[in-house]
Amino acid sequence: MDELIDQWKVQSKEQKDENNRFLKNVWTIPKAEFLPKLQETHQEAFQKIDCLSCANCCKTTPAIITKGDASRIAKHMNIAPKQFIRQYVIEDINGDMMLNGVPCRFLNEDNSCSIYDVRPEACRRYPHTDEAEYPNRTSLNLANTIVCPAAYYVVERLKTQFPTI
Ligand code: SF4
Ligand code: SF4
Repeated sequence: MDELIDQWKVQSKEQKDENNRFLKNVWTIPKAEFLPKLQETHQEAFQKIDCLSCANCCKTTPAIITKGDASRIAKHMNIAPKQFIRQYVIEDINGDMMLNGVPCRFLNEDNSCSIYDVRPEACRRYPHTDEAEYPNRTSLNLANTIVCPAAYYVVERLKTQFPTI
């Protein structure tokens, strides 16, 4: 498992151009053929890679947060949503809210999440490799291969399954 993470650190950057070409063409594969393979590969990736050995997303990428997330987490922390937003959230230039602090302030030393049960929806869904919209998200998918060994693994496996696109 650590071997896969070590490989990803080196190869995700080396493979970036090739993966970009592949991801740009994924939409051409019929969805009925592609989506079951995507699901299968996503599950395989997370059987092989343990997020607790990685946590790179939590260490490098501030999570987008919704008002619903903020209310849920604030309730869990027993503070008012406004206080939570004041202490833990910043707005980007587009007005999107995200958790402040990198690595994430909710990341524990053992790579676990201290608010796991109520974590933001964006954290729950990351790296989006089991979602039906995957074929239409070239830039996001490519960026995720650099941040996330599981997202990289998914692309590498898909390339072997759809070698002609
Ligand atoms: S970067 Fe990917 S593999 Fe690593 S902790 Fe996040 S979701 Fe898991
Ligand atoms: S809230 Fe939890 S899962 Fe989300 S980035 Fe922070 S530590 Fe990671």
